[in-house]
Amino acid sequence: NEAVSKNFIEQIIDKDLAEGHCKTVHTRFPPEPNGYLHIGHAKSILLNYGLAQEYNGLFNMRFDDTNPTKERSEFVESIKEDIKWLGADWGDRLFFASNYFDQMYEAAVKLIKKGKAYVSDLSAEEMREYRGTLKEPGKEDPSAGRSVEENLELFEAMKDGRYADGEKVLRARIDMASPNMNMRDPVIYRVAHMTHQNTGDKWCIYPMYDFAHPIEDAIEGITHSICTLEFEDHRPLYDWVVRELEYENPPKQIEFAKLYLTNVVTGKRYIKKLVEEHIVDGWDDPRLVSIAALRRRGFTPESIKMFVELCGVSKANSSVDYAMLEYCIREDLKLKRSRVMAVLDPIKVIIDNYPEDQIEYFDVVNNMENEALGSRKVPFARELYIDREDFMEEPPRKYFRMFPGNEVRLMHAYFVKCNSFVKDENGKVTEIHCTYDPESRGGNSPDGRKVKGTIHWVAAPTAVKAEVRLYENIVDEELGVYNEDGSLNLNPNSLTVLKECYVEPGLADAKGYDSFQFVRQGYFCVDAKDSKEDALVFNRIVSLKSSYKL
Ligand code: ATP
Ligand code: MG
Ligand code: MG
Repeated sequence: NEAVSKNFIEQIIDKDLAEGHCKTVHTRFPPEPNGYLHIGHAKSILLNYGLAQEYNGLFNMRFDDTNPTKERSEFVESIKEDIKWLGADWGDRLFFASNYFDQMYEAAVKLIKKGKAYVSDLSAEEMREYRGTLKEPGKEDPSAGRSVEENLELFEAMKDGRYADGEKVLRARIDMASPNMNMRDPVIYRVAHMTHQNTGDKWCIYPMYDFAHPIEDAIEGITHSICTLEFEDHRPLYDWVVRELEYENPPKQIEFAKLYLTNVVTGKRYIKKLVEEHIVDGWDDPRLVSIAALRRRGFTPESIKMFVELCGVSKANSSVDYAMLEYCIREDLKLKRSRVMAVLDPIKVIIDNYPEDQIEYFDVVNNMENEALGSRKVPFARELYIDREDFMEEPPRKYFRMFPGNEVRLMHAYFVKCNSFVKDENGKVTEIHCTYDPESRGGNSPDGRKVKGTIHWVAAPTAVKAEVRLYENIVDEELGVYNEDGSLNLNPNSLTVLKECYVEPGLADAKGYDSFQFVRQGYFCVDAKDSKEDALVFNRIVSLKSSYKL
């Protein structure tokens, strides 16, 4: 049954189409260009774009830039880049709400003429007093009785700059006794002597969001205006605006629950503080969940899409575990990326019976589960690096990796047996000496001898040195994200920088955003910001294992 698997928004749309309320589906994504987009916005983008695709409709990209503040235009480009990267294609349907200021002004005049709006002299504080409380109805604004002519004159004077900020406002005349506070004669226009990034100094009055948004939707022919739950009790006002302005095909507002991630900082205020205090490396620090940060960390559009789809669309607020996002990127990369060897914390291994200066190549399949990725040649030599955790001087029981006297498999290559090791004056192991069995080429011995441990390695003479960055949650989950005073409990171990790592030579040409599986270590992505041609930097996207089950 198709209807059952459809989400509640699709069910509303189906009904609207069936009953002839609309002929096509037309959605939009309306960000305010006042910050970077985050994973929550991705949900809204993919939802709106996805519905337009599904119903063969239209999708508008609209900057909701009706509120003039200084630092706005810089965000327009970053938002566009993020949305393109996510795969939402607005084609030539790019709009700016500030281009509708004339129509919004005309709409306000229309309301005044209908006796549905008036200019008020109340200060913000007086207005709060008059508005009443949830238990008490509000009081009539002393200006509410002004004639249409007087209101038209005063509103024009507001537009002409004859009043200071806050001196006069335009209010919709609805119902001061409404149980819904939003309906108690809401302010729809205010005076603000500010320069707007698009319209410059043309206007010194600006529409309020609740008035502007339904007009934007109506002008663009939006059929379903999808927003988040906190706007639910603004809907009566949305409907009032489109009804009183007598639009022929009024848009319909539908609310869904915001996406929240458990123990993850998404609030702009907090992230701004982390950026300003240099606790993170900008809005795209790989520990954050802005779209730019996720992209830099190595998440793919497909993984975010999968995540958003798994979250579903609902009317009830809930919080999703970050582990689900990690699950999605593992699932996406599993078959798509090569599995290569990288040593993050190197110890040198010397194979004493291997010819000096010889380099031989092993044919290694890039991804055992996906033949299409082909194979590569991996060099092997007398001197290699292995990871420090793959060697122990005195191993505990059940340790099957390298230790004196033990034989292990060097992945894809040979059996080697550890004979001795060298320590420096601090007792740190600096060198391990082994012998290899030439008969075990390819990783198996013809005499059927078994080894229990298989470890990865990189040949020293051809190794590419790289920096690797490992991440944990930026906040301390044990202590709880927020303190009572609103500060964050930071995790001091959220970033580990490993400066001397070695990767296979095949990775030398890797470019920003390229990603790989490093066998046994996880998925890693070339950092597009800090990586240089001869100094690669990798971010760990995610480790290989998880307790997360779908
Ligand atoms: P923030 O304050 O986190 O930036 P916002 O609501 O101010 O969020 P807008 O630029 O106004 O950001 O949002 C653009 C669109 O994205 C809106 O339709 C909004 O409802 C939606 N949106 C914002 N946050 C989320 C979220 N966490 N989950 C789903 N949709 C979201
Ligand atoms: Mg925003
Ligand atoms: Mg907003």
